[in-house]
Amino acid sequence: MSEADKSAVRELSHFIDGKRAAGAGRRFGDVFDPAQGRMTARVPVASSAEVEAAVAAAKAAFPAWSETAPLKRARLMFKFKELLEAHSDELAELITRDHGKLFSDAKGEVVRGIEIVEFACGIPQLLKTDFTDSISGGIDNWNLRQPIGVAAGVTPFNFPMVVPCWMFVMAAACGNTFILKPSERTPSASIRLAELFIEAGFPKGVFNVVHGDKSVVDALIAHPDVAAMSVVGSTPVAEYIYSESAKRGKRVQALGSAKNHLVVMPDANLDQAVDALISSAYGSAGERCMATSVAVAVGSIGDELIERLAPRVRSLRIGGGMEPDLDMGPLISAAHRSKVTGYIEAGVAAGAKLVVDGRGHTVAGHEEGFFLGGSLFDDVKPDMSIYREEIFGPVLSVVRVPDLASAIKLVNAHELGNCVSLFTSDGAAARLFSRQIQIGMVGINIPSPVPPAWHSFGGWKRSLFGDHHAYGEEAVRFYTHYKSVMQRWPDSIATGAEFTMPVAK
Ligand code: NAD
Repeated sequence: MSEADKSAVRELSHFIDGKRAAGAGRRFGDVFDPAQGRMTARVPVASSAEVEAAVAAAKAAFPAWSETAPLKRARLMFKFKELLEAHSDELAELITRDHGKLFSDAKGEVVRGIEIVEFACGIPQLLKTDFTDSISGGIDNWNLRQPIGVAAGVTPFNFPMVVPCWMFVMAAACGNTFILKPSERTPSASIRLAELFIEAGFPKGVFNVVHGDKSVVDALIAHPDVAAMSVVGSTPVAEYIYSESAKRGKRVQALGSAKNHLVVMPDANLDQAVDALISSAYGSAGERCMATSVAVAVGSIGDELIERLAPRVRSLRIGGGMEPDLDMGPLISAAHRSKVTGYIEAGVAAGAKLVVDGRGHTVAGHEEGFFLGGSLFDDVKPDMSIYREEIFGPVLSVVRVPDLASAIKLVNAHELGNCVSLFTSDGAAARLFSRQIQIGMVGINIPSPVPPAWHSFGGWKRSLFGDHHAYGEEAVRFYTHYKSVMQRWPDSIATGAEFTMPVAK
């Protein structure tokens, strides 16, 4: 990005039917560089006519695309992967500028997005189904996995590339066409992804992007030609989109908020546990759905854990996202920073012990940036709002429990269930924990256990609505109709009609 581009306020566009489409609506949203606290772009809010145009483009592209051989779709995915690799620094920079996460972190996000494309390159194998020769005399039975039509996706601010890839890459690989409504706070990467998708050779209309807010989401939900909705966002939004779409008969995949625990047993390697807590609680300023926000100290480990964590939290290197050798960047917005500091105030008022206070942190040269230092609470109780609610910021709460059974009970009682970790050197404890914990993703001596592209991602309880987890084979199931075909040919029909319940002969 040139210096002139960096200081100018860019006008973003939608991407409809294979090309950029300047916003014709009257409403715009402001996109900020969180490290500078400065507005850098205006993002259009799609009008109903623009949503209509995107759905029409996706609908028109569907018949030919759904009939395109999976191997041909895979070849285009290979090309797309090459382009993403060639443009990975550019994509990472777009992510950092909109979101504020460190450039090194954004590069990691780009790699995770590319991994979804790599998985999708295997779509001919993934769409292979079961076949039973001779279920009865002369009759064979097999399955088809057929695309469902036009699918739409709504994505959160914190992963501007990887979460869209979970959706449009897998939907298109399965033969669907797609409309993405990215976060209005981090919209830039999605347009570049759509351009590279076209450059890879995908037909126009297979992947469209419309920007906007609730009004655009509602228009997609209500549109009769949209067959499936995917959403990743906060639990109230995921639940709303899930229920509004499901009651219109649409297929829905809805991933929501998180409150992730990391349980430290007395026999854990404490150096590893502390490293894990620091990286997973404060990495990306805590704005990850896989961030740890609660450390559960089992038995007598609590005092030592706090003693080791506190200096590490105080010495976090905080700064602007493009600068090297940093640990975390700013929060997404001034409003979000106020929300997080509000939680810190609530924790203090409720009686939790604020060991490290990150409020008032400033970064030289970035005085207007949305920065907040790392905060650490001890003696947090399960009825406090800082324990119950998702904070989505660099705030770690330590809860003390007497034993593993109490830790499992605590985690299972929380209404959210995205991911959890256990640090221990006891294999039996780890096995018991993995089996009894009511959480979608579990890490043993691993923080933030994000499954790779060929496993699937998703939480339990109020962290996920609908039946399917994201990406991996779950995505193939979500983005296809399952059909059973039973077939016999005239020779065997010659025996005449049967009136009894058919049984194997
Ligand atoms: P958000 O819920 O505010 O917004 C998510 C998307 O929904 C955005 O595109 C937004 O425009 C749209 N939206 C917002 N309000 C809406 C409404 N009332 N009706 C319809 N659509 C609406 O979430 P966010 O702040 O962008 O992202 C952070 C949240 O996402 C956190 O809660 C985080 O845990 C969650 N998240 C979850 C996962 C996961 O895999 N479970 C992954 C990433 C983020």
